[in-house]
Amino acid sequence: MPDRKRERVEIEIPSKAIRIKNAGCPNGHSLMDPDHKINGYPSVKVLIRYKDQEGLIYLDPIYGSFKNIHVLNVSQGDVVDFYCPECKTSLTAAGKICRECSSRMFAIHLPHGGIIEGCLKNGCHYHNLRLIDGNELLKKLDEEDMLDSYL
Ligand SMILES: [Zn+2]
Ligand SMILES: [Zn+2]
Repeated sequence: MPDRKRERVEIEIPSKAIRIKNAGCPNGHSLMDPDHKINGYPSVKVLIRYKDQEGLIYLDPIYGSFKNIHVLNVSQGDVVDFYCPECKTSLTAAGKICRECSSRMFAIHLPHGGIIEGCLKNGCHYHNLRLIDGNELLKKLDEEDMLDSYL
């Protein structure tokens, strides 16, 4: 018997239709930063390491939009690593490879088991939103705004 609770649901999200409101690290620290807004909304703040430098990056909270604010100057096509600014836990997704460019990927956690994975290569815009916990999700699929509670 498969454990239906761990069922994996992948959803194709229309670009720019949703906004990340509650992203966190695996240890539960919020990555949301109301002091740095992008598109008028709190950004997702992560620490990056790149060529022996450390700096913050503010990610656009609109899914599919990429008005990210880099503090470090990362060359186009270079791959970085993401960490939680709070506990320095790596946000690199173990064993995940970008479908577009084969670079490693990050994973950011959402409430209720959702995960956003994204490519760590600067300039590659491959993202994938995954919501785990299939039962609860499938029940709500008909409801308007149901995705909202997952973000
Ligand atoms: Zn953390
Ligand atoms: Zn990529």
